Amino acid sequence: MSDPNHQKEASIDTYSEVFRKQRAKALTLRTERLNERTKRLKKLQLWIEKNQKAIQDAVYRDFKKPALEVNITEIYPVLTEIKHALLHLKNWAKPKKVDAPVSMLGTTSFIRYEPKGVCLIIAPWNFPFNLAVGPLVSALAAGNTVILKPSEMTRYTSELIDSMIGDIFTEDEVRVFNGGVDVSQALLQLPFDHIFFTGSPAVGKHVMRAAAENLTSVTLELGGKSPAIVDETANIKDTAEKIAWGKFINNGQTCVAPDYVLIHPLVKGAFIDQLKLASQRLFNHDGQGFQQSKDYARIINNNHFNRLDGLIKDAVEKGANIVMGGNLVSEDRFIPPTVLTDVAEDARILEEEIFGPVLPVVEYSSIEDVIQTVNNKPKPLALYYFGQSNKNKRAILNATSSGAVCINECVLHFNHPNLPFGGVNNSGMGKSHGWYGFLAFSNEKPVLRQRIGFTTTKTVYPPYNNRVKSI
Ligand code: NAD
Repeated sequence: MSDPNHQKEASIDTYSEVFRKQRAKALTLRTERLNERTKRLKKLQLWIEKNQKAIQDAVYRDFKKPALEVNITEIYPVLTEIKHALLHLKNWAKPKKVDAPVSMLGTTSFIRYEPKGVCLIIAPWNFPFNLAVGPLVSALAAGNTVILKPSEMTRYTSELIDSMIGDIFTEDEVRVFNGGVDVSQALLQLPFDHIFFTGSPAVGKHVMRAAAENLTSVTLELGGKSPAIVDETANIKDTAEKIAWGKFINNGQTCVAPDYVLIHPLVKGAFIDQLKLASQRLFNHDGQGFQQSKDYARIINNNHFNRLDGLIKDAVEKGANIVMGGNLVSEDRFIPPTVLTDVAEDARILEEEIFGPVLPVVEYSSIEDVIQTVNNKPKPLALYYFGQSNKNKRAILNATSSGAVCINECVLHFNHPNLPFGGVNNSGMGKSHGWYGFLAFSNEKPVLRQRIGFTTTKTVYPPYNNRVKSI
């Protein structure tokens, strides 16, 4: 049963009280044996495995996300993260010896990984289970206590997370506070040892400002406009299928979804034809229509629906053509897979993060033109290159900066346990997942051990007496 205290209306006093308890607990966690962390992770794993149906139902109630999509994008990545941590934790946490240079002769040095302490995780709504519980896995693996603030926009999933945490942990280990901006802002006043925030760049700035007051370290997992570049050497059928999946899964509300396509004019027509076929095959395979399809989710709320409607209208007013989709149904917050061409450079859809199932396809004239377009915008969270030209691939890899790159693939890197996940500048800072998540929640503490009666530094101890003239 959940702890009834978890359901209570919380206030700043409650936050401070829980914070105080967690701080006391965090001090004891520094010296506990590693298998206590393992036990916590296993409890979490067991709960998730037993309650898959409840997780599917909660996310479905929030935005009609299909059960299998919940498995693939919410449950499976978290279970993978837990299993990966359980497999590697002993090795991750082991102090790592480092070599000594000649100037450090006689010393032995190593790096210890100590828990940061009390951590705050603030999560977004778009993968409401994955992006709240995934970072929690890293925080627990690194030996921290955690206050978790899920998104207010996914009420059912956030309530389920609260009840899950109440079932598994004591409030000095992990505690959930549900609520909106006010709860988030109140929590941000506390002097956490680390804040892990996933959300928009605009809110990321607020979080970083608040963290600065306490000199708290931050990991910021933000968003942006991730381009997909399709050149004339691309396998168009394969490319269109992968982009249709990466763009329209989760109803386009994915931080690493291809935001817009930059395409060579020679393959534009074929690409759009194949995109239409792939979208039908993936999300409307029985031909009943996307709105009737059980495989297609919905826009999270009316605000986002209206925002997307506004982006499409603005583009069309400025001359864009809707070549696929476009028939929105506001009562159902339904937007079908929609593709725009001939989009004016100053259309808002080419400036703001889209975060919905609307894909502008923009022609380019040369790879230099592509590089300039990407570099004229803030650094994206991901960049996708589809093609078989080593020259183009090298040019793009060398001349652009982004949180990640996939070649002939999109979105999938998120699930790779051995790759660091994160953005750069406007799309984020710090990395997560696997070893990198463990590091985000650890202080890498260098320890240098010297022999008694010996130090190479003695040669430069004062008095100097002009001995060091030549340095
Ligand atoms: P958001 O920034 O609006 O909200 C995220 C969290 O911050 C929520 O829990 C919310 O309650 C809280 N919050 C909102 N305003 C706040 C404020 N002024 N002060 C303090 N806290 C505040 O983001 P969202 O709409 O939930 O998610 C969409 C955004 O997140 C997109 O930009 C997307 O690209 C990004 N995102 C990034 C990743 C990633 O891993 N890099 C993953 C998912 C989503």
